[in-house]
Amino acid sequence: MNETLKNYINGEWRQSSDRATFSNENPAQCGSELNRVAASTEQDIEAAITAASQAFTLWGKTALPERQAAVECFLNTLATEREALAKIVCLENGKTIREARGEVDSALLEGRHHLRQMAVFAGQSAPTTDGAIVSWEQFHPLGVVGVISPWNYPINVMCRKTLPALLTGNTVVFKPASFTPWSGLFMAQLFERAGFPKGVFNCVTGRGSAIGNRLVRDPRVRAISFTGSTKVGRDIQVMAAANFTRTQLELGGKNAMIVLADADLDAAVDATIKAGFGCAGQWCTSTSRVLLVKDIADAYMDRLLARCKALVVGDPLNETTDMGPVAGPSQFEGISAAIATAKQEGARLRFGGNPDKSQGYFIPPTVFDHVTQKMTLFREEVFGPVLAVSTVRDLDEALIWANASIYGLSSTLFTNDMAAALRYVREIEAGMAHVNIHSGFKTPELPFGGWKESGFGAPENGRSGLEFFVERKAVYMKGLR
Ligand code: NAP
Ligand code: MG
Repeated sequence: MNETLKNYINGEWRQSSDRATFSNENPAQCGSELNRVAASTEQDIEAAITAASQAFTLWGKTALPERQAAVECFLNTLATEREALAKIVCLENGKTIREARGEVDSALLEGRHHLRQMAVFAGQSAPTTDGAIVSWEQFHPLGVVGVISPWNYPINVMCRKTLPALLTGNTVVFKPASFTPWSGLFMAQLFERAGFPKGVFNCVTGRGSAIGNRLVRDPRVRAISFTGSTKVGRDIQVMAAANFTRTQLELGGKNAMIVLADADLDAAVDATIKAGFGCAGQWCTSTSRVLLVKDIADAYMDRLLARCKALVVGDPLNETTDMGPVAGPSQFEGISAAIATAKQEGARLRFGGNPDKSQGYFIPPTVFDHVTQKMTLFREEVFGPVLAVSTVRDLDEALIWANASIYGLSSTLFTNDMAAALRYVREIEAGMAHVNIHSGFKTPELPFGGWKESGFGAPENGRSGLEFFVERKAVYMKGLR
């Protein structure tokens, strides 16, 4: 019998209240079991919220240098455990070991940014004087914050939410995605080792529809930071409205890449491979629609298909693998169905297109062209290694096609024309606009969030990364002796 991983609640490692567990599968080997994990109940999530509420009475008043020291210690531990953690992410998520190390590095880069930024942020509430009145803006932590994360970036996404929440004086109940509970619980160990007081950080594993719901509905939970699908994000928003719970929702995408006639085609193809097939197409900022201006469409496709042929799909632990399996059975079924629908609706298959789960949940890099706006492949997020290529007349038409989507997360344009670049930056309806850079590129100084149905509430990172987690109070004072 494999080891059972326990919840981390109030500084203790606890089984689920009814001792139920679920199996954590390695997606590179269908039917395998890495370990068993607590299938938690509403009672467990309730216990975690109670622990976080009690811990808040002290943590919310803890001096900032102490909170910063704890987060710094956590980040140092994370750096020490980089390889161990990367291996866990690789095993339970299926991304390659090189991609998993990159994820830990990205979490460290962002975490260190938040740590530095906190010092500046706290200094913003400095007093001002106007005659006899002294006034200032004061920040207060919210209280208990719920963090609900997806499986595609199990370390980076939870850190981007949790560290700003803790730095600003909140306590956290974290629910990891059910494909990646081990990474979440390993992070809980790092918080324990960093010496956070009991109850400040809690981690509860189990089904989103059961315990995630319960977390969102609890009136003691003052904010929910969620990353996941647009469908679940919408449900969360509806539930949160009952208690005016603040929400930060990072949701789905159908990110477009436009390639103009004067573009450096090798650079464009490079970016397509990186952002189309990185983590098997399971970045929220993955390139999924490619809009080619007709003059270069054939040349671009020739180069793209040659690069697809060279990609090595296989064991993600192998240092030379380019693409591992997708994250699990529901991902495999969903992506396979999207491929079948694309074929049925008349898109032309140019590469891949044959999912194979004889060993693991493997989907090869898949490219369709002749994709029209009416096709499901153009409209719906696949969240897998499937590119929808369409040919357009010029930038005018490309922008119309790019914006013909309910989503607006990321985007990119390849061109050498400054006027075209500026026009695209102005007109693209997306939270991220890149020129000659792949659609997944990001830095912590700038906001990470989507327009339209790709996001809601203050974006992560950037100026609002910390701000989301505080209440503001305007203070006016006079006449004191
Ligand atoms: P998901 O099904 O929405 O799940 C996300 C998280 O929500 C998981 O922890 C899930 O738990 C939980 N959950 C499910 N139902 C819930 C409910 N009713 N109440 C509360 N929590 C609930 O998304 P996913 O399939 O894991 O992730 C892929 C999606 O995330 C894609 O659409 C992708 O675009 C999006 N994404 C967006 C960003 C961004 O920054 N914009 C980043 C990464 C991913 P279980 O795992 O137990 O179901
Ligand atoms: Mg798994």
